[in-house]
Formats: sequence, C-alpha cells, structure tokens
Amino acid sequence: MMPTLMNEFIYDIPVEQLPIYRGNHLILRTRHPAILPALLAEENPDHIVGVRLLSLEADSEALNAWAPGLPLDLVMTDPATEFPLLYRHTNLLDNHPARVVIPVSPGFGKAVKVAVALDFAVLLEAGQPEPALIEELTEVVTFYLRQPSVTQPVEFFHSTLLGFYHDDPMPLWVVVDENPRYQRYVTDAGIECLPGRLANVEVAVAPDAHREHEIEQVLAANEDCQSCEFLRSCGGYFKWPHRDYDCAGMKRLFGLLQDAAAELRRDLDAGPA
Ligand code: SF4
Repeated sequence: MMPTLMNEFIYDIPVEQLPIYRGNHLILRTRHPAILPALLAEENPDHIVGVRLLSLEADSEALNAWAPGLPLDLVMTDPATEFPLLYRHTNLLDNHPARVVIPVSPGFGKAVKVAVALDFAVLLEAGQPEPALIEELTEVVTFYLRQPSVTQPVEFFHSTLLGFYHDDPMPLWVVVDENPRYQRYVTDAGIECLPGRLANVEVAVAPDAHREHEIEQVLAANEDCQSCEFLRSCGGYFKWPHRDYDCAGMKRLFGLLQDAAAELRRDLDAGPA
C-alpha cells in the first residue's frame, strides 16, 4: 500500500523506506546506526520523531552527539541474554532520552533491573503473558514500586500508576505507543499496518473517530472489557490479538498499581501541610 503523504500519522519505518515516506512524521528503525547522521543530514529534523536501534550488538557511538534530544529506543529481542549489551550504549544518555524496549519473555526481569540501574527508561512489550510470565511481571512491578533506586519510568507501569493517582487514566494503546488513531507500522517489505499487536488483525477504526470513542467502542468491544473495572486504564489492550485471552493475571497487576497509587495518596495526604 502506498502511504498518504503529509498526513497526521506517525510512521514507524525501516530506514530503507525513507524515500517513500519523506515529508511525514517518522520513527526510523535500523540495525546500522552509523549510517544515520549522513543519511539524514538533509532531512527536516522536525519530521524525525525518534530512532529505533534494532541490534544491541551495533556500535551506537555515531549517535552519541548527533541530533541531541532525539528520542532513541534500544530494542531487545532476547532480554535474558542481551542485557549485558546495554553497557555499550550508556553514552547515548548524555544527549538523548534513551529507552530500552524489552519483550516480556522468560528472564526479562534481569534486563529491566540492569536498564534502570544504568539510567535507561524502559518500555515493556507485554504481549498476552502466560501465568509464569505474570509471576515475573508481578516481581518486576513490585521492584518498580518498592525499590527507591528506580528513578526512570518503566512503562506501562509508570503511566498506569499516575493515571490511578490522578484519576485520569490513559489507555494502554496510548501509553505504549500503539495508538491506531495516529500510528502506523511499515514492514521491511513496505506493507503498512496498524501498530503493535493490531498489526495482523482486521479492526475497523474510523479515520475521524474520536479517540475515546474509538478505543472504548471498537478495541474494547469484548464483553469482558465492558464489565472490567480497569477498562479506562487498559482500553481492551490485553484482548488483542487473541480475543479469548484470560485477563485474570493482568487484572491482578492493575490492582497492584491501583493499590500503590492509593497508598501514595494516603501518604501524601498524611504528610505535613
Ligand atoms: S484487563 Fe482484560 S478485560 Fe479488562 S479492559 Fe483490559 S483487556 Fe479488557
């Protein structure tokens, strides 16, 4: 599918697709960060929203002082073995907001701990986790909530906690940058898809739909979601792509974050005026 140029979408593209998508707001994916400074020298910097580095084996030194302030994602595929590679990329933090994208797979908790110890923010790709992974998620959320040394946001925990605290929740589609209203993913073959877990599913999202209407009415149409106490914080996120996913574990996790927000509010209310 050919892209519609200069529209409101943010396109997540492989750098090889740059000539086709030039002029749009772009997130660029690459395994070869050294090529970016020269490749993008003539681009309008306002159109580059961020860069995703797909190989932690790559040398990212060329990005250290390039485009200061540009958000960078370091994308892991096997967190249980890749976490030592994060040490190579700490210089990126001098000039960039840098985040580690960590799939929730066995052993991911160690990667989260190393990432936050090195001062990286974290974005978890939670998928539809099985019970064993829910246990590891519970350990990681407890670490995030109780460990004073954690100073960087771990998403989706961080925004969900703030949403409970301020009673102003943001659906996970927005928190984890998979908002179908504004984002599109372009495959290496140039195929344009909905972002994240919606990539391979058919979902009718009206282009002029109001965000809340779209998320609550289309993405959270599942019967379980309609009666779920965490609908406003989740938006039906965990019912995709497999609509029969059992959310019991994820609801417990939302409950932990909700309890922590209530505890935080009580502590602050009880503090000195
Ligand atoms: S936790 Fe599950 S049931 Fe509740 S809103 Fe999210 S996807 Fe729906």
